[in-house]
Amino acid sequence: MSDTIERVKCLIIGSGPAGYTAAIYAARANMKPVLYQGIEPGGQLTTTTEVENYPGYPDGITGPEMMIEFRKQAERFDTDVRDGWVTKVDFSGDVHKVWVNDTKEIHCDTVIISTGASAKYLGLPSEQKYLKLGGGVSACAICDGFFYRGQEVVIVGGGDSACEEAHYLSKLCKKVTMLVRRDAFRASKIMEARVRNTENIEILHNTNTEEVLGDGQVVTGVRTKNNVTGEIIDIPATGFFAAIGHKPNTDIFKDYLDRDDTGYIINVSGTSKTNIEGVFVSGDAADHVYRQAVTAAGTGCMAALDAERYLAAKEVTVKA
Ligand SMILES: Cc1cc2nc3c(=O)[nH]c(=O)nc-3n(C[C@H](O)[C@H](O)[C@H](O)COP(=O)(O)OP(=O)(O)OC[C@H]3O[C@@H](n4cnc5c(N)ncnc54)[C@H](O)[C@@H]3O)c2cc1C
Repeated sequence: MSDTIERVKCLIIGSGPAGYTAAIYAARANMKPVLYQGIEPGGQLTTTTEVENYPGYPDGITGPEMMIEFRKQAERFDTDVRDGWVTKVDFSGDVHKVWVNDTKEIHCDTVIISTGASAKYLGLPSEQKYLKLGGGVSACAICDGFFYRGQEVVIVGGGDSACEEAHYLSKLCKKVTMLVRRDAFRASKIMEARVRNTENIEILHNTNTEEVLGDGQVVTGVRTKNNVTGEIIDIPATGFFAAIGHKPNTDIFKDYLDRDDTGYIINVSGTSKTNIEGVFVSGDAADHVYRQAVTAAGTGCMAALDAERYLAAKEVTVKA
């Protein structure tokens, strides 16, 4: 093996709640984890303000502050936290090979994938402006719906997730206006029926979002255009929710790992195991259902325990 190739017992890819939790457990099991942060150190939560639903923070905490705490706890047990982007992997042999920034090659006994997923937004400048300001744009109704209690909100999307999120919001908000680009839902009939039968959800079909309106600080409404009639309507709202899907950050694994049609890594049910021995997955990279920090952290724990047990079993086999 060349001097430039590093050997690592447990490599963790990603620095969100899943990656850091895996690191805490792996480090305390003496696996000397190395964790690469990627281009979003701290993960998705660093893009939000208040987190009020993570247990242990009775007064809430901002996302960036919470992720600093996760990092500190992982480093307390000597996790080697590094900057770097994993650009390539080769999981074809016994030793799993990983390349960082296209140059550094690492040979790993175990790999824990915690690369998360990215919420899709429409990409309108006004949407991005209020998203960055934390002024009323969100891609997570379960995370942020609570902040809009008793208010009027707009949600865009026509799939199952959009229906589920609209229904969730309807229980908190005074009114939910759902913008669906086509004349029909993509969602299943049962999900469509659920939103259609909810009194405070209004559905606008053939409707595009033209602009998110605001006062420079917070959202005040949404400008819509009917793509059949051309009619423009401004809908008053204090919140704008994008529910048009997520993209899991798993493309680099596509030649080796089983993934579903959207790209979520498929794990062996009830475990963090993938179809490759010694490669484990945690967090949103494998979760299209819950997508919460606490579930990501939970599966990060599972991945570290599965990795530790895999190594222990391997050592017994080698000694026997
Ligand atoms: C705006 C917003 C608000 C939210 N609010 C809440 C909330 O209040 N409560 C809650 O429970 N959940 C909330 N969520 C959801 C929560 O953030 C996610 O469920 C959680 O962060 C997923 O954790 P994860 O560790 O799986 O991945 P992420 O947090 O997505 O982290 C992924 C990590 O992987 C790294 N990475 C990706 N690819 C590579 C690569 N090739 N090489 C190296 N590193 C890589 C990234 O840099 C990042 O560090 C919110 C999400 C958003 C977008």
